[in-house]
Amino acid sequence: MPTDLRLPTHSIVRPDKDRFLNEDNPFEAMMSRFDRAAELLDLEPGLYKILRHPEKQLTVSMPVQMDNGEVEVFTGFRVLYNTSRGPAKGGIRFDMQVSLEEVTALAAWMTWKCAVVNLPFGGAKGGVICDPLTMSVGELERLTRRYTANIIKTLGPDSDVPAPDVNTNERVMAWVMDTYSMHVGHTVTGVVTGKPVEMGGSLGRREATGRGVMLVTKEALAHLGMPVAGTTVAVQGFGNVGSAAARLLAREGCRIVAIGDRTGARHDASGFDVADAIAWVRRHGTLEGYGRGDPLTNAELLELEVDVLVPAALESVITTRNASRIRARIIAEGANGPTTAAADDLLAERGIFVVPDILANAGGVTVSYFEWVQNRAAFAWPEDVVNDRLREVMTRSFREVLALALERSVDLRTAAYMLAIGRVASVQRLRGIYA
Ligand code: NAD
Repeated sequence: MPTDLRLPTHSIVRPDKDRFLNEDNPFEAMMSRFDRAAELLDLEPGLYKILRHPEKQLTVSMPVQMDNGEVEVFTGFRVLYNTSRGPAKGGIRFDMQVSLEEVTALAAWMTWKCAVVNLPFGGAKGGVICDPLTMSVGELERLTRRYTANIIKTLGPDSDVPAPDVNTNERVMAWVMDTYSMHVGHTVTGVVTGKPVEMGGSLGRREATGRGVMLVTKEALAHLGMPVAGTTVAVQGFGNVGSAAARLLAREGCRIVAIGDRTGARHDASGFDVADAIAWVRRHGTLEGYGRGDPLTNAELLELEVDVLVPAALESVITTRNASRIRARIIAEGANGPTTAAADDLLAERGIFVVPDILANAGGVTVSYFEWVQNRAAFAWPEDVVNDRLREVMTRSFREVLALALERSVDLRTAAYMLAIGRVASVQRLRGIYA
């Protein structure tokens, strides 16, 4: 089936960034976890200082001719946080709330995420302050191409490899790839991932994050001695990650008892037919009007008594305000940053087993890595090879993080950060400081 290159507004995420900032500043929220892990690792002070700073922060201005003939100037950023382990990897987001601080935090996040699953990548992030909902496709294309041109010195398959993020998609990646290729004079597929399959995208990429969530959830259930069959699951967010995770968990025998999106949530103790719900969303854009089950709010969904809760929508939905009411046994973080740093301890005190975002949602970047490898080899893998290799990476990574958590008597999040920071630090030590 050819790739749908339209920018449908219903698939555009508009995360409520105020929530992201409510309990903590994004950079500090991530860095408080970093500090805890660094202390446990007994990181030497010099290395600590290096890893607490981004390598490169670019701020660029993009003049764009709008459809009405006026010129607008947009501001964008690209941050390379740490590239000691390989080319920088990280998405580009288009959103009014983008800031240098947020992009830096997300670039650090990508550094740890790539390291925790042991990909040979560093971490990066990019963003442009704009409201894509109000822009035409032509305006978005001109903005994307000018942004790409403005950051072109950092880009390249060996240096910095973007991917889609909030409000960007395969269509946008095709423009980035084309603009880069025009500048260097030949087609370079490996400069971005998350491309349309026809131009070098990987099979299996679209559902890779949800598949990764399913795989780590199964590992967590096995560790806790809980059966997969009949496990009750609530999923917040029914987009790319949430719907794929729900579909694949249901296929494994789990009962998906609650699903929700920005329009509200539904509950059905007997379990949803996930394929039917996905078909509804495909036809109508959201779950609004979906008749199965009983309505409930997104806040109620988070507090349901279920075996597994999969937050797969927004940042900072589990906070000090609701952590004491969460009744799930396992939380598999499909979204980035769904739990605030301040809520971590409350969940741990109550024995809730949290599979942290940098591990649980790393399936997407893992298949992005596979895409980059396929592009470099100019040899596309069949989907089952992609899925098998993803399973290997996710299960191995989960087991490595769990082993460290048990050895050091820490929660999985702290162990994931320790493993990731330890890996980055060890390469940094071996490479030394370039004079
Ligand atoms: P998406 O746009 O496909 O889906 C987002 C879903 O969240 C939609 O169903 C939307 O309706 C819902 N939502 C929005 N606001 C909500 C609200 N206030 N309450 C409840 N639901 C709400 O996005 P996605 O790609 O599935 O990404 C979801 C999360 O996963 C994000 O945090 C993203 O950063 C993270 N993530 C995505 C990937 C990936 O490969 N797509 C990889 C890693 C992490």
